[in-house]
Amino acid sequence: MALRFIESSKLPTRWGTFDIHGFEDPFKGKEHIAITMGDCATEEQEPLLIRIHSECLTGDALGSMRCDCGEQLQEAMKRISEQGRGAILYLRQEGRGIGLVNKIRAYNLQDQGADTVEANERLGFGADMRDYSICVPMLEHLGAKQVVLDDQ
Ligand SMILES: [Zn+2]
Repeated sequence: MALRFIESSKLPTRWGTFDIHGFEDPFKGKEHIAITMGDCATEEQEPLLIRIHSECLTGDALGSMRCDCGEQLQEAMKRISEQGRGAILYLRQEGRGIGLVNKIRAYNLQDQGADTVEANERLGFGADMRDYSICVPMLEHLGAKQVVLDDQ
């Protein structure tokens, strides 16, 4: 399996206490996390509410108005907290997978009139370099067999 589970701990947040689970992808040299609340195993339970969130440092942590990633992440944490159960798979693939510094370069191209796809392509990347395959071993580790995607 490409993804290794490393450690879990408690994560108190303004929306209540979540569990944070750290994973490592040794092949790509990346670390990923899942943030969960409640029992994620779905035996005889409702499907697990999950959000798949790709890291966006500027939106998630800096309050950037160039995208609504931070808002979406906070809304998802709030919804999970209200339901008392759910998971956010937080994938470290900044800027649609092109990386933080390249995302800044893409912002400049966007300011010159390119859309996100054109900007990525002009930087020599695909329109979307994100890889969601690591979600499968993450969900397996959490014991979630049935999920419902939070795509709001
Ligand atoms: Zn963003």
